[in-house]
Amino acid sequence: MTTSGDGVGSSAYAFDVERIRRDFPVLKREVNGHTLVYLDNAATSQRPVQVMAEITRFYRDSNANIHRGVHTLSVEATDQYEGVREKVRSFIGAPSASEIVFTRNTTESINLVAHAWARAFLEAGDEVVISEIEHHSNIVPWQMLRDERGIVLRHIPMLDDGTLDLDVARATIGPRTKLLAITLMSNALGTIVPVGELADLAHAHGARVLVDAAQAAPHLPIDVGELGADFLAFSAHKMLGPTGVGVLWARGELLEAMPPFLGGGDMIATVSLTESTWNEVPHKFEAGTPNVGGVIAFGTAIDYLQALDMERVRAHERELTGYALSTLARVPGVTLHGPLDPNLRGGVVSFSLEGVHPHDVGQVLDSRGVAIRAGHHCAQPVMQRLGIPATARASFYIYNTRDEVDALEEAVRETASYFGFTPGATVA
Ligand code: PMP
Repeated sequence: MTTSGDGVGSSAYAFDVERIRRDFPVLKREVNGHTLVYLDNAATSQRPVQVMAEITRFYRDSNANIHRGVHTLSVEATDQYEGVREKVRSFIGAPSASEIVFTRNTTESINLVAHAWARAFLEAGDEVVISEIEHHSNIVPWQMLRDERGIVLRHIPMLDDGTLDLDVARATIGPRTKLLAITLMSNALGTIVPVGELADLAHAHGARVLVDAAQAAPHLPIDVGELGADFLAFSAHKMLGPTGVGVLWARGELLEAMPPFLGGGDMIATVSLTESTWNEVPHKFEAGTPNVGGVIAFGTAIDYLQALDMERVRAHERELTGYALSTLARVPGVTLHGPLDPNLRGGVVSFSLEGVHPHDVGQVLDSRGVAIRAGHHCAQPVMQRLGIPATARASFYIYNTRDEVDALEEAVRETASYFGFTPGATVA
């Protein structure tokens, strides 16, 4: 038996969901007369009481600006903030805490690479390779760079089952490739991408590899060395932490070589009226006052996940996803999108219900207390590839249960009958 902190303890063999749920008071909430079933974790997770308590503790006892003061509170706040770099380092298996840059979110982390690294090191004609299943935040910055600098943007297409076409990937990644910017897990379909294999290909051509880990970091064990990443981006709010905190990890030599992203306080060593010199890495990339309290509370979120053990987080979600896939497949009129093998996908189940718009599915489910997402999930190219405007998406996390999957299934069945669906009927 291992017991690792209040509420997080569980045996080495069982993932104690009921105990975990006690740390998330929102899960006891009533929504439209039903106990909340929160299945919108790919958008943002809930936060445990430990994270909320840490935010309160910081503002109550230690609040001060960091890196600037000699007074006790400022030194304390600085130590606590800097201490979280080490927690993040250990969470992703990075060699050094100085390679961890705090940003606002994944989107800002990717834009940081596009602005600071790509604008300095890529030239017209250089190729950036993305995939068809990227979130908009890993598409739009590269399109902007293409329009500004004349780089060539190529993509690895998606197959019908939501996995990537690796044959085309082998033909696309080549001597002109300077960056492979790829998700480790799709937020729209849940597809887990074999990033290691693609990174080997990219590195064989001397390219760098940026991994969008917004969905992967909360749900899968991550080791940047094993992944073969050069840059890794993720957000605290999808992994029990506060909103407004993101991470960019990059290899130390890349951070050293990159010019700054934003200019201002804290990112400088010296400033005169005519010129400035830069602070050392990672501070060179953290201009202005950061989300001090948020970063510190993110440290508590990482402690929570590490105490649970990310291998067991993954095993729990794989089990739940397999159950949800088989349960929903039995509902007449449901089409499941993405890989059907739970080993190839994270805890995301995207589906369509014949004859019913996904927004209507979302609304009927909400009236039964089941929170899912309906829309294009900021992955419009995936919807274009599937030939549909939107999907309904249920996404799981550490506190979700089989009973909640059953509630989802029942609510989807009720939705079908509410809209008078009869299997095989023509869709309006
Ligand atoms: N990439 C992926 C795969 C995502 O799922 C998300 C969030 N939906 C993002 C990037 C962007 O994250 P954020 O909004 O926190 O910047």
